[in-house]
Amino acid sequence: TTFEEYQLSHEIKKALDVLKYHKPTKVQAEVIPKVLEQQDLIVKSQTGSGKTAAFAIPISEHITWEENKAQALVLTPTRELAAQVREDFTNIGRFKRIKALALYGKEPFAFQKDELKQKTHVVVGTPGRVMDHIEKGTLDLEKIKYLVIDEADEMLKMGFLDEVAAIIEQVPTNRVTMLYSATLPKVIEDLCHQYMQSPEKVEM
Ligand code: AMP
Repeated sequence: TTFEEYQLSHEIKKALDVLKYHKPTKVQAEVIPKVLEQQDLIVKSQTGSGKTAAFAIPISEHITWEENKAQALVLTPTRELAAQVREDFTNIGRFKRIKALALYGKEPFAFQKDELKQKTHVVVGTPGRVMDHIEKGTLDLEKIKYLVIDEADEMLKMGFLDEVAAIIEQVPTNRVTMLYSATLPKVIEDLCHQYMQSPEKVEM
C-alpha cells in the first residue's frame, strides 16, 4: 500500500513526502480509508504505531482553511502528548496552512484565550484545560466535525474519564468520533458505545 491509493490532496501528499512518510503503517492503512468515509472507530494500538498520523492525515484532508472556528478536537492525557499531536498536525497540514493549537495547564489561560480568538483549525488539549475553556466560553465547539480521544486507557488511569465524557457531551453530534487506546477495558468500550455511531473496531 502507498499513500497514492487514498483520496488525498496534493498539499497533504507533499507534506508526507517532506516528512519521508513513504508508505502507511499498518494502523494507518486500516484507519485512513475508514476516516475518509466518516466511519467512527475504536482503535486498539500502541504508541510508535503511527497512530497520530492515522487520524491527523484524514482530518487534515477534510479541514476547510476558510473556517475560522475549530473543526477538530483531540483530547490527550498529558501536555507532552498534546504538544506532540499539535506538532504532527502542523507538519502534516503545512501546505494547507493548518493552524493547530495545544491547550494544557501550566500555560497561562489568558494567552490561550487570545490564541483561540485567532483562526484555529485543530485544538489539542488535556481534559481539564479544555473543559475550562468550554465553561468560560473561550472555546467554541459549534464547528467541530472530528473528535479524537487519544490514549484513553491513560485518561482512565489518571481519573479523567468523567471529564472526557462531559466534554464529549458538549460536541455537536454530527461528527466523526475516534478513540485510541493500548487496552480496551469495559468502561472504555462502554464510553465508545454511548457516544459513537455504529463504531468499527480496529485491533492492531
Ligand atoms: P506515533 O505512534 O503516532 O507516536 O508515531 C510514531 C513515529 O512514527 C513518529 O515519530 C512518526 O513521525 C513516525 N511515523 C508515523 N507515520 C509514519 C509513516 N507512514 N512512515 C514513517 N514514519 C512514520
